[in-house]
Amino acid sequence: MTQEKKTQRKNLLEEKEYHTPSNGLFFQIKKPLFGRESRYQRIEVFENPYFGRVLMLDGLVQTTERDEFFYHEMLVHPALMVHPRPRSPLVIGGGDGGVLKEILRHPVETVCLVEIDPLVIDVSKEFFPWLSPALKDERTELLISDGKEFVRQTEREFDIIFVDSSDPVGPSASLHEKNFFTHLKKCLRKDGIIAAQAGSPFYQMDSIRKKNDFLKSLFKIVRFYSSPVPTYPGGNWAFVFLSDSVQPLDIKGNPPEGLKYYNPDIHRAAFSLPNFFKEKLD
Ligand code: SAM
Repeated sequence: MTQEKKTQRKNLLEEKEYHTPSNGLFFQIKKPLFGRESRYQRIEVFENPYFGRVLMLDGLVQTTERDEFFYHEMLVHPALMVHPRPRSPLVIGGGDGGVLKEILRHPVETVCLVEIDPLVIDVSKEFFPWLSPALKDERTELLISDGKEFVRQTEREFDIIFVDSSDPVGPSASLHEKNFFTHLKKCLRKDGIIAAQAGSPFYQMDSIRKKNDFLKSLFKIVRFYSSPVPTYPGGNWAFVFLSDSVQPLDIKGNPPEGLKYYNPDIHRAAFSLPNFFKEKLD
């Protein structure tokens, strides 16, 4: 890079996300749109020339306009496409509305979303108009609460539970622990399914393996799957499918129209894990 380019680059407003002390991802900020500390975390929204609008929580990318569909479609559709008759799912986290948007493509009756930080919901309504309409849908029940406390106290049951938590730091740390999944299980109806984001197979295999160990003691079926997510650490993300009865590859019917990533072949392929991943799990 020429000196002139280096100087130009030095003057650009940038946001950096470190994946290790020596590497990470940077975003040029074309236009800062929002930045504030909430009761739980730092919330930032900015415009990037390539990825469009970007939402960051505590300096970590949550979603971008250009690649949100990779993550949201792969957290949601594999579980909904194998459940015998999904009617009332629960979402823990997910205040940006992206997971909800995908769920509401299916003929569900109601969806309950439990988000700890109301400011994330307000920010999404203001700056992410392609995600947030689902937050205002008549089938949506929005609850502001700590997901861990909600599942510990509730008597309600759900047929599919999606855990769209942020990274295992700050308010989201407890959503990656055995205690939380133990309480989640009691909220699950017969033939119920849990689908949760599980982290970066490249950078976070130790926490994925730890999770695998305690999940196997709670559920008969524990299957990790993965998909590319361009702006997440390592460009690839892991998810986990949990159930005591429903098999993750028993696809029923046709997927909803308009999907940009998910299809039945991708569904099957996502559960085929690379050797380094399988070996670490075993
Ligand atoms: N896809 C993103 C990822 O993988 O990093 C997560 C997106 S979503 C924005 C994460 C949401 O979880 C945030 O809105 C955050 O406020 C919410 N959250 C964090 N801890 C929570 C808790 N204990 N209970 C409920 N929601 C929580």
